[in-house]
Amino acid sequence: MSLNLITEPRLLPSVTKLLELTSNDSVPHDVWVAAARYVLSEARATILAGGSVSQEDLARTVAARATQDIAPWPTKVINATGVILHTNLGRAVLSGAARQAMLDAAAYSDLEVDLQSGTRGSRDTYVERLLVDITGAEAATVTNNCAASLFLALTALGRGREVIVSRGQSVEIGGKFRIPDVCAQSGATLREVGTTNRTYASDYGDAVSEQTALLLKVHRSNFFVSGFVADVDIEEMARIGRERSVPVVNDLGSGCLVDTTRFGLRREPTVQESVAAGVGLTLFSGDKLLGGPQAGVIAGRSDLVERVRRHPLARALRCDKVTLAALYATLRHYARGVQYESIPTLRMLGLTADEIRARAEQWRDALPLAGIAVCPSASTVGGGSLPDAELPSSALVLDPAEYGLTSNALTERLRTGDLPVMARSEQDRVWLDPRTVQPDEEPALLAAINSALRPP
Ligand SMILES: *Cc1c(COP(=O)(O)O)cnc(C)c1O
Repeated sequence: MSLNLITEPRLLPSVTKLLELTSNDSVPHDVWVAAARYVLSEARATILAGGSVSQEDLARTVAARATQDIAPWPTKVINATGVILHTNLGRAVLSGAARQAMLDAAAYSDLEVDLQSGTRGSRDTYVERLLVDITGAEAATVTNNCAASLFLALTALGRGREVIVSRGQSVEIGGKFRIPDVCAQSGATLREVGTTNRTYASDYGDAVSEQTALLLKVHRSNFFVSGFVADVDIEEMARIGRERSVPVVNDLGSGCLVDTTRFGLRREPTVQESVAAGVGLTLFSGDKLLGGPQAGVIAGRSDLVERVRRHPLARALRCDKVTLAALYATLRHYARGVQYESIPTLRMLGLTADEIRARAEQWRDALPLAGIAVCPSASTVGGGSLPDAELPSSALVLDPAEYGLTSNALTERLRTGDLPVMARSEQDRVWLDPRTVQPDEEPALLAAINSALRPP
């Protein structure tokens, strides 16, 4: 605690004075000035709200902010939370091949040129070919993310006409992405049918008119309903669409290309099933269960894909070369049949409870410290995929009381170390789930735990 508390704005030091106290040559002068101005304006607000500040704290905060302003970003972290697709930690972990492809694409590449003929090509060509092979669709294109894919599909196919959706699927996906709002922005009129819990095939059939542009199905990704419920499956919707000559757009969200029951999870609808059902367009994310970079795939009938591709918004929503390279490399794992061992998301989903317990026990044995145990635990898929699913797991459990710490204090130490470790704080203990820790991160993780429990 400082004795020199400042309680009036006029007594705050000047920018010049603060810089005299703090600045050095490791950070450019302009950055120091900007940091000092920012910290002083925050301090003024604190004082006006009835608080106080000290000159020492101001100087420390300015130095921290200026240093942080020129620090590299992002910082690599170890994810020991057991949440596989952790949105705040960047969702899918990319494979080694995807990372290398991103580096190659970062320099000059054959992004839009055909090397054999020397003529201009399209950046979609290569990724489209793999998507067609893997999903069975006639054609495919890629946007910035699945939200963009839905917006683009609704705009290109539905503008000025009606889009029919079940009331139970008129949902909010996350981050204010709401089906009614997206539809309104696209210029299409949303026509909700059925009720929140039950929608029948006849509800769609009865609603189709001259005005209908498409039938939309939306995967309820981040919640589930049970009880007195009824839904129309995708085959049935495709049949209605065929009979009434109205295309069906299926927003699958997760973009699952594999059978999730092999991981002991509920069956997620796959992209291949949606395409085989005869849906017009199937939309899905690149960075959920697919295990690739942020991207949105639109796969389906070639006439519909062409209409989407030619729409002026397509250019505004397209993804960049680095993303395309990573997506291509990820899809290539599927095309070569090596997805389960090559794609980290699928590899982590496939780890058995026994394998994970063995790793947790190895960690415990490598850390001859008090207050460390291995306990049964559960990992989750995350990323708005399979919200109710739990994968049986084990965790290394640290008892912070052994070290005179609270569990929040210990998670903070882990999070703010040289190599940040994200862990779960539950029941006054700190839980580290090996499922989401990559094998090559283990030595660094053990060192981080060691120094969090016994600071040098
Ligand atoms: C996640 C999700 C989206 C949004 O996907 P992003 O790639 O994150 O934009 C859209 N629709 C559904 C059904 C989703 O689950």
